[in-house]
Amino acid sequence: MSAQIDAYAALRVKLSPSANIYVQNSKDFGTATLRWSQYKSPDFTVVVEVAIEDDVVEAIKYANANQIPFLAYSGGHGAIAGLASVQKGIQISLAKLDSVEISETGTTATFGGGILSKKAIDTLWKAGKQTVTGCCEATSLLGPGLGGGHGLLQGKYGLISDQFVSARIVLADGTVKNVSSDSSDPDLWWALQGAGHNFGIVTSVTMRIYDAPNEDFWSFESYVYTQDKVEGLYERINALWPDGSQPSGLINFSVLMRNPAVDAEKPILIFFIVQNGCQPAESIYTQPFRDLGSVFTQSGSGAYTDIPGWIGLDEKSPSTMKLGLSVIRFPVNVQNYNLQAQREVYELFAKETSKTPEFSNSYIMFEGYPVHGVKAVPSESSAFPHRDDNIIIAPVVTYDNKANDPELDAKANEFGEKLRQTIFAASGQRELHAYANYASGSEKRESLYGFEPWRLQKLEALKKKYDLEGKFNHYASVL
Ligand SMILES: Cc1cc2nc3c(=O)[nH]c(=O)nc-3n(C[C@H](O)[C@H](O)[C@H](O)COP(=O)(O)OP(=O)(O)OC[C@H]3O[C@@H](n4cnc5c(N)ncnc54)[C@H](O)[C@@H]3O)c2cc1C
Repeated sequence: MSAQIDAYAALRVKLSPSANIYVQNSKDFGTATLRWSQYKSPDFTVVVEVAIEDDVVEAIKYANANQIPFLAYSGGHGAIAGLASVQKGIQISLAKLDSVEISETGTTATFGGGILSKKAIDTLWKAGKQTVTGCCEATSLLGPGLGGGHGLLQGKYGLISDQFVSARIVLADGTVKNVSSDSSDPDLWWALQGAGHNFGIVTSVTMRIYDAPNEDFWSFESYVYTQDKVEGLYERINALWPDGSQPSGLINFSVLMRNPAVDAEKPILIFFIVQNGCQPAESIYTQPFRDLGSVFTQSGSGAYTDIPGWIGLDEKSPSTMKLGLSVIRFPVNVQNYNLQAQREVYELFAKETSKTPEFSNSYIMFEGYPVHGVKAVPSESSAFPHRDDNIIIAPVVTYDNKANDPELDAKANEFGEKLRQTIFAASGQRELHAYANYASGSEKRESLYGFEPWRLQKLEALKKKYDLEGKFNHYASVL
């Protein structure tokens, strides 16, 4: 034990004065390592909270010299089975790398590598600016962004990673690179936009930003439906916005879940429409959903920064908090809703959550982000492989497994996979496309990174060049 303390002291002297080291069982270690999901979570013996880029370099060099695995931590919402391959590791916490610098031209901003979405959104907003971020305030900018990154503004501007202009990245051996489309590493730049977690720790990223005029308000309407409305809801969504044709400023999504206060027996559906530039949301979009007959309808208007609160993704919402639960997602992309599959999935969800009450806080997300901006970017130009897909569906199996019961984990996987396969089978698609940032870890590599053989070949070659020893293989590995 004393040798271990000495070893960290040796690291400490190399770090900047504002960096911290938290050893296991120390006061701050528990808080620093909290995660959104406990399922297959990584195991750490020490946290290095870095304050400057060079601290990341030193932490990685120390880990390599002592053959210790390491993992970056920004928002702590990463949840994929591969994370459990980090055993007795070093967590490199990036929370202090949270600066925002807006360029003189006001067209780009440089963000610290650990910044959370909320700080990025709020800081830009105060300056009359915005850019694509994830919708959840508590996740980071780069956790989502390095895997592509879906967000409310993607209909206009594309994915989070489509906004990248340049980045500083610490590679597996501790060397630092400044990468951009013009740099000497164009393939690394390509990989950072969709498979970025596999190649290094990004200490800062410069992104395109856009004017956000004060009068540019947003509106929402939400509806709570009982089980008899399943077909009606998805039929209306298909009819209004076939094949991803919804306007670029309109987001629709629904959640299937249990809420005993509304229906003690059966799961319910909550459906949201969020629209940019009008007050209230346009009736051509809302009236069909009012006519369907909801138990409860809510609406409102406000600023872009109000949206996470409306849709339950603000930092105080239970869905974004670190509650000590196990959460596994089973994503599958589709083009339109298959009504029969929506019913089958509903019944399956109802049956299993009734039979296994441990899963009663599970839910299924049906995300209809606008896709114009995403599809406008050529597919081959980045490592993000699923630009042609319209809808992201993700069963989210949620349960308390503090007792570490492997049978409960296995049951959760079986449940989530059954839901996913029901949707996939009805989609008529031959390839299962899954968003890497939602993946459970059981997916084929092709599902996460693309079925065109050249994609995985290119990623494999890049791994050999930049991460031969697989230091960054823990999160949605391309290998
Ligand atoms: C409630 C909730 C809402 C979500 N909403 C969205 C959404 O709107 N859009 C969307 O696209 N996704 C969304 N996601 C998925 C999200 O993209 C992933 O969960 C992502 O891993 C979260 O990143 P994080 O920084 O919060 O987590 P972390 O666990 O800290 O990081 C995730 C992975 O990224 C790596 N990483 C983090 N920072 C860096 C960095 N600077 N350089 C290199 N690697 C890094 C970590 O090592 C880890 O492997 C959501 C997830 C949750 C739980």
